[in-house]
Amino acid sequence: MNIRSLILPATLALCTCALPAMARGPQGGGQGVGQGVGQAIPAPAAVLSAEEADTLLWMREEEKLAHDVYLRLDEAWSLVVLERIAISEQRHFDALGGKIERYGLTDPALPDVGAFSNLELQALYEELVTSGLESSTQALVIGATIEDLDILDLQQAIDETVQPDLQRTYGHLLEGSKHHLRAFVGALRALGLDYEPQFIDPLFFDAIVGI
Ligand code: MN
Ligand code: MN
Repeated sequence: MNIRSLILPATLALCTCALPAMARGPQGGGQGVGQGVGQAIPAPAAVLSAEEADTLLWMREEEKLAHDVYLRLDEAWSLVVLERIAISEQRHFDALGGKIERYGLTDPALPDVGAFSNLELQALYEELVTSGLESSTQALVIGATIEDLDILDLQQAIDETVQPDLQRTYGHLLEGSKHHLRAFVGALRALGLDYEPQFIDPLFFDAIVGI
């Protein structure tokens, strides 16, 4: 399915960066064990493939993207749903930080809100915040958009990895994202608006949020 043929909010339609997992850049690929000979670094639990490592690093920054966008939009609109879900995204971000440590990878996450190592995610952050600052309603659409993309990427991450602990953690984050999607779509529906899925299959969307 060509997800790009689906309807995007105006600002997103201009963005070439809202890509699922297969469009990732090479950043972080192939990091693994072995660096730091002579340093007191505990041996990683297992060696991830380059693809698994790339995915983990991408997901770490994608969780930060969600957190930072919600934080920024909550500053503007003071919506409880944004504030509450931002706290949840911090937990997701922290969980993946633990996995990065466990597998001996270099954490790409930057300390500042709205700053990303991955340039695609940096550009996406700017697009999403700009759009979400247009109105509080558009902020809810942006929330649903982020969860929609997150669900797609997490599903791909689960399918791709052979590590049971990563499958478990991604699965936990996926359930959180479904919950968040329901919250944003529910808030939009309370305003008489609907959200059209842009990334996940419409039938799967209906199964998550209800018709
Ligand atoms: Mn999340
Ligand atoms: Mn979420």
